Amino acid sequence: MRKRPLSLRHDIERLGLAVAIACAALLCLAAAASAGPTSTRLVYAPGAIVPIPASIPHEEGDMVDKRILPDLRWIAQRYPIYVTDGYSGPLPDGEHVGCNNCHANGSEHYNGLAVDLVPLGAGTKCDAVWAPITSLALWAEPLQNKPVPPFRWVGYDGDAGHGCGNHLHLSWNHAPAARFQLAEWVEVFPVVPAETGGEKPRKKRPAAPKPPPGPAGGISTVRTGGVGARVDY
Ligand SMILES: [Zn+2]
Repeated sequence: MRKRPLSLRHDIERLGLAVAIACAALLCLAAAASAGPTSTRLVYAPGAIVPIPASIPHEEGDMVDKRILPDLRWIAQRYPIYVTDGYSGPLPDGEHVGCNNCHANGSEHYNGLAVDLVPLGAGTKCDAVWAPITSLALWAEPLQNKPVPPFRWVGYDGDAGHGCGNHLHLSWNHAPAARFQLAEWVEVFPVVPAETGGEKPRKKRPAAPKPPPGPAGGISTVRTGGVGARVDY
């Protein structure tokens, strides 16, 4: 067999190297794609505690802050979730929603910014039915105690009272808010209008600084401009 000219061999080697780099980059992209939302934004539009719509399977009567509904709907379109608890607390008319004193102090359930999830039709045994919920948990928190924004806390395997066969807790980053109050802003991952079931696109707000990680409380946010936000029901 004839030897290839040197320059051609170099070309082939260079091509091989380029292919190897491209493959490595693709693997990186694939890894990144599987680890949570790629972008987030802060929603300053006033919140409200509203019933969870039928498009998101849930226990009767469950409610959340409407600002996380597009994200929840997006999740429900991709994972067979069933919401077992959302907002937990009183409504303006005095009625109580959600479970009573079953969440930790400072829980986002008291602000309507957390949900507890199980697989549709699941039992309390960690079996194959739970696999998609485990995937969802890993998507939101690829590394233990390092949730991907906009998630503030992800409770699953490794967290007491959570995990496969029990439930998955997801909560969203938000401005500090007292118990049973709506947060001034909520961090969400954007979904395109078509995926939200025809929901109107929200007004664009000026970019705001990202919140520091960690539990709510004592976080001061400086805002400029006249964007109003209500913190009442
Ligand atoms: Zn929870």
